[in-house]
Amino acid sequence: MIDLHSHTTESDGTLTPLELVELAAVKSLEALGITDHDTFAGYDQARPAAEACRLELVCGIELSTKLDVDGRKSERSVHLLGYFPDAEPAAEFRSWLHAIQESRRDRNLRLVGRLRELGLDIRLEEVQQLGGSMTGRPHFAKLLRRKGYVKTLQEAFDRYLDESAPGYVERLEPGFAEAVARIREAGGVSSLAHPVRLAGRDAALEFRTIERLAGMGLRGIEAYHSDHSSEDTARYLDYARKYGLAVTGGSDFHGDTKPDVQLGAGRAANLRVSRSVLDQLRAIACQARG
Ligand code: AMP
Ligand code: ZN
Ligand code: FE
Ligand code: FE
Repeated sequence: MIDLHSHTTESDGTLTPLELVELAAVKSLEALGITDHDTFAGYDQARPAAEACRLELVCGIELSTKLDVDGRKSERSVHLLGYFPDAEPAAEFRSWLHAIQESRRDRNLRLVGRLRELGLDIRLEEVQQLGGSMTGRPHFAKLLRRKGYVKTLQEAFDRYLDESAPGYVERLEPGFAEAVARIREAGGVSSLAHPVRLAGRDAALEFRTIERLAGMGLRGIEAYHSDHSSEDTARYLDYARKYGLAVTGGSDFHGDTKPDVQLGAGRAANLRVSRSVLDQLRAIACQARG
């Protein structure tokens, strides 16, 4: 069994890279993909530990990208995974990530200002202490809960942080097509993360959108995910065949922030990703690099 989608404290997970590797070893995972949001810092730190316990570690990333899902003007944030299973991502890709992180810091500064205007007494240092190098809205949500402004993380998003809420401020996010191209240029394989979130329950829109994304050069689809029912998975496996997409899968483990999701096993053991998924992903990565 393998897991190709997980997060560490370097983004919004609650286990350190070292603790995550240890957990994967305890669970006897054959391979672990670390896919922190917009950073390789967790993967980089986990490498020595993974080597020491002979856990096969897969270099990955989860990028937030902008996409006009329903063809209307408003763009939504769509998550895109990138995998580099046989070779390190090109250096240029890492500098591109640094630019994204820079814009995140700038957004965070403006977000603190906005929330202060709304009467919340928070400071940038307090949020950064929770988030480290990849401070994001989930860390703002935690701080608001800790300070008693909201009872739950969801309430923090609903009242302040969601795109439709009064506290929301924009940040620079690459477009979906650009992110797909960057991953390919860096020698990786892109995969649409948790496709079930793409179009809600609108099956026709989902179908049209995935067809469009394949046309933009998307290389894979995350057919296996903790949020997927067996029907969802079957549908995404069909799309993968239809559009020649690689299949990927993982739990999207975040530790205590999503306590019902288990590494390797998903929600109530609804997940089982076989080793052959990684073998095929690696073959596609090699092929693409020629
Ligand atoms: P950021 O990249 O800092 O803008 O934060 C984006 C992250 O916030 C997403 O990956 C989600 O984990 C979380 N998020 C965004 N919108 C919501 C929402 N409405 N409810 C709960 N979590 C959300
Ligand atoms: Zn996350
Ligand atoms: Fe995601
Ligand atoms: Fe994720």
